[in-house]
Amino acid sequence: MQQITNHLPTAELQALDAAHHMHPFSTQDDLAESGVRVITAAKGVMLTDSEGEEILDAMAGLWCVNVGYGREELAEVAARQIRELPYYNTFFKTSHTPVIALSAKLAQLAPEGLNKVFYSSSGSEANDTNLRMVRTYWAEKGKPSKQIIISRWNAYHGSSVGSGSLGGMKGIHAQGGLPIPGIEHIDQPNWWAEGGDLSPEEFGLERARQLEAKIDELGEDNVAAFIAEPVQGAGGVIIAPETYWPEVMRICREREILFIADEVICGFGRTGNWFGSQTLDLKPDIVTIAKGLSSGYQPIGGSIVSDEVAAVIGATEFNHGYTYSGHPVACAVALENLRILEEEGIVDRVREDTGPYLKEKFESLTDHPMVGEAKITGMMGSLALTPDKSARAAFAAEAGTIGYMTRERCFANNLVMRHVGDRMIISPPLVITRAEIDLLIDRAWTSLDQGMAAAKEAGLWHSA
Ligand code: PMP
Repeated sequence: MQQITNHLPTAELQALDAAHHMHPFSTQDDLAESGVRVITAAKGVMLTDSEGEEILDAMAGLWCVNVGYGREELAEVAARQIRELPYYNTFFKTSHTPVIALSAKLAQLAPEGLNKVFYSSSGSEANDTNLRMVRTYWAEKGKPSKQIIISRWNAYHGSSVGSGSLGGMKGIHAQGGLPIPGIEHIDQPNWWAEGGDLSPEEFGLERARQLEAKIDELGEDNVAAFIAEPVQGAGGVIIAPETYWPEVMRICREREILFIADEVICGFGRTGNWFGSQTLDLKPDIVTIAKGLSSGYQPIGGSIVSDEVAAVIGATEFNHGYTYSGHPVACAVALENLRILEEEGIVDRVREDTGPYLKEKFESLTDHPMVGEAKITGMMGSLALTPDKSARAAFAAEAGTIGYMTRERCFANNLVMRHVGDRMIISPPLVITRAEIDLLIDRAWTSLDQGMAAAKEAGLWHSA
C-alpha cells in the first residue's frame, strides 16, 4: 500500500484527490480541473495548506470548530477512550459512562424541560430521527393523522432523504426524488431580499403568520410539527426581524403542534448563549444538535427531547437507531469539549466581549460600496452584496455570480468566507481573538474591493 503523506507534492495530492475522491456539494469535473487546496494542519483559527500558506478560517470548518483547532485535551480524551472502550452499542439493555455523562450534562445545559437525548452521528441523521419521532409521538397520542411537518424555504436540515426533504433547498429537492410526502414549506424571514415596501417589523409578522395560514390550510389535525433554525445558517445567515419569533411562538402555543429548533449551527455558544433558543426566547419541544457539540473533533449529533415527548415515546418501542448512536469516543470528546467551552468561559466571552467587538467591526463593512446590510448575532454573520444599496437591489447577473467572485478573492487572500447567493457569510471559531477579528475584517475588505472590481470588469455591475 502506497503511503500518502503531507510530504507529497501538492500537484500529486491534487491528482490523487481528483482521481479517487468525490466531494460533497461540488462539480467533480470542475474541481479536478482547478485542483483542490489540500489542508494539512490547523491551530486555533488558522489552517495551513500543503504550500505552507496560513488561512484564516472564518467558517470554523463547516460552522463546527467552536473551540478552535489543535486542542490537545480532546486528542487525549479520544485516545484514552479508544483504549478503554472504543465501541459499544446502547441498543440491547446496555449503556456506558461516556453516553451517560454526556446526556446528563446536555440536560443541564439545554433549555428548560428538555432532559433526554437520542444520539446520531450527524445533524442529518438527527433530523431524520426527529421526523420519525414527532410522527410517532402523535400516533401514540391517538392522533395518527397529525403527520405533516412544516418547514421553510431555504432552510438547511441536512442532505439525507428525510432531512433533505425537511430542508427547503431547491437544489437538493431537484435531485433524487425529494421531497418525500408530508412536508410543506413556508417563506423565510429574509427582509433584505424579500421585504419589499414593508418595514422589517411588518415583514416579520407577515412571514410568521404564513405559519398560521399554512396550519389552517392543511388542518391542525394533520400537522405534526414546525421545524426551523433559530438563525438560518446555510440559507445565508438570515436573522429574522424582531417581531418574527414571538409571533411564531404564539402560533405554536395556540395550535397543537410541536416545535423542532434545529440548533445544529446555533447550539453550543454560536449566538452567545448555549443555545440559540435561549438567545431568541424560543420554547422548543425538540432541539437538533451536532457540529459544535464536539467542535467537529468527532462526528456526533442528536435530538434533545422535552419531558412530554420523551414520556410519550418512552411508552412504546421506538424502532429507530444507528450503530453509532451514543458512540463512546464521540461522547467522551463531546463532554470534554463542553467542559472547555464552560470552564474557559468561551460562551460568555462571545456574548460579552468578542461577539460585540466582532459585531462592531463587521457592521463597519457596510461602509463598503458593495455591502447593503451586515447582520450578525454572536459569531455568525452575513453581508448582502448589492450594486445599489438604497434600492436593496439584487444584481442582474444570476444570483451567486458576484458572491462566488468575491468568495474566490477571499480564498486567494487566505480568508475562508463563504457565499450563499450574493450574501457573504462568516461563522468563525468562538475562540477568535480581537487581533484575529481585525485580520478577518481587513482581509474581507480587501476581498470585497477585489470582488467589486472584478464584477465591474466583467460588466456585471448592474441591478436586476
Ligand atoms: N441542520 C443544520 C441547521 C445544519 O446547518 C446542518 C449542516 N450544515 C445540518 C442540519 C446537517 O448536519 P450534517 O451535515 O452533520 O448532517
